[in-house]
Amino acid sequence: MPHAARPRVMAVVDASLELAIARLEGFLAIPAISCDPAHDGDVRRLAEHVRADLERVGFARARLLDLPEGDLASNARRAHPCVAAEWLGAGPTKPTILVYGHLDLQPVKGESWDTPPHTPVRKQTPSGERLYARGAADDMAGWVSWLVALEAWLTHAGELPCNVRLIIEGEEEIGSPNLERFMDAFPDAFTADVMVLTDTENPSVDLPGLTVSLRGLLEVDITCSSATSDVHSGLFGNIVPDPTIALCMLIARLVDDDGRLRILPAPVDAEWLARSVDVPLGDDVVRSAAHLREGVNLLPDRHLTRAAWAWRQPSVTVLSTTLPQPGFEKNAIRREATAVLSFRLAPGQTREAMLEVLERSLKTNPPSGVLVTVNERAGGSMSWDYQAEGPAFDAADRAYKEAWGCVPLRIGVGGSIPFVALFGRRFGSLPLLLNGVMDPQTTAHGPNESLHLGVFHKAIKANVALLEELGEALTGARANV
Ligand SMILES: [Zn+2]
Repeated sequence: MPHAARPRVMAVVDASLELAIARLEGFLAIPAISCDPAHDGDVRRLAEHVRADLERVGFARARLLDLPEGDLASNARRAHPCVAAEWLGAGPTKPTILVYGHLDLQPVKGESWDTPPHTPVRKQTPSGERLYARGAADDMAGWVSWLVALEAWLTHAGELPCNVRLIIEGEEEIGSPNLERFMDAFPDAFTADVMVLTDTENPSVDLPGLTVSLRGLLEVDITCSSATSDVHSGLFGNIVPDPTIALCMLIARLVDDDGRLRILPAPVDAEWLARSVDVPLGDDVVRSAAHLREGVNLLPDRHLTRAAWAWRQPSVTVLSTTLPQPGFEKNAIRREATAVLSFRLAPGQTREAMLEVLERSLKTNPPSGVLVTVNERAGGSMSWDYQAEGPAFDAADRAYKEAWGCVPLRIGVGGSIPFVALFGRRFGSLPLLLNGVMDPQTTAHGPNESLHLGVFHKAIKANVALLEELGEALTGARANV
């Protein structure tokens, strides 16, 4: 039985989109760049601003969470606060939804923007109106779309159709180094029956997405060495091993003729592959998104879809090398050479499995007999593979159908999002809905980041519906109020 107030709440949301955009613009004007200590004050200022907004909307215990002194992760210099708030007025028979988003931003240094990155600017584009600002879609509009939906329910229905907790993190863009510490220090703030993690992309501005898999990340140092000193190439060339050449040969050993990783390929389920044909990730879309030059082609598809290559297969990238640099030429065989390689792991693959195959592949019969060491670097991330089935996902399908006109496509992400892997590990038994407001034109983390305002509108409407659909679908589920 739909809530009597739902049509009114939807109508209000439709009529007040301009107010929602203005509210979003207010948040975007604060340069809350979490990686830069010069902006520490801005992160806290924005967090306080969000806290005050939640309090005004009617959320109880709207507060900033700060970690106890001395409780930082070993790789963290400091901790930015999380904003937490809750509304538990729906009572113990109704489920509790936790909504996660992040308020911090990527830096803009060195980027060339058409408009000032912290001054939101609206522009018409062929696919609709967009709002340009750092963080517009990653991730400010993601959680602001929830604030707007929640306020509409509270103002025009006097209540929410379920209990809601919010966590707005301040460190996602630096890899959520302290998020697990926050989970340990404030377990009540994370207690829920279903979680909506809102920081991901939609396949297009007309087609919503729910993310159900991520690739993991493994970074390694590979070093080839042969001597304790550089030696004259005229005297020793052709006689002693050259670690620089050996390193290049080792990297080449890892890839096939297309330059793709040849070790530990992941099996792709035939049914998944057939469904992935629906993903609007055609060659033209990829060409444009990847800024490919005229005359350069995409890699051959080899009977897999682009989505399968991007989301379901491991890949390798050379991050840096100590190969001799221009300006430092000398006629010498260098004593050692190192490369930092990054491996994206297919959903389900572990860092341990990749490392084992890698060691075997690189250390067995090394080129010209150099000594090879392989060391894992800190900062890896688990892959994530999720079965998005059950009443919570049926509820999401209904909510999106109402707001977008179609059910969300189940999509993957080729990247690694540490907080998702963390939520998956800590709360994997709960339904985890990963949504967001990004689209292929968003350019998150790059210049001229933007939000499609039609997507923002549909996201707010989907949230209005999702609150009630989840409230109905999970009533009777254990409510951890
Ligand atoms: Zn984000």
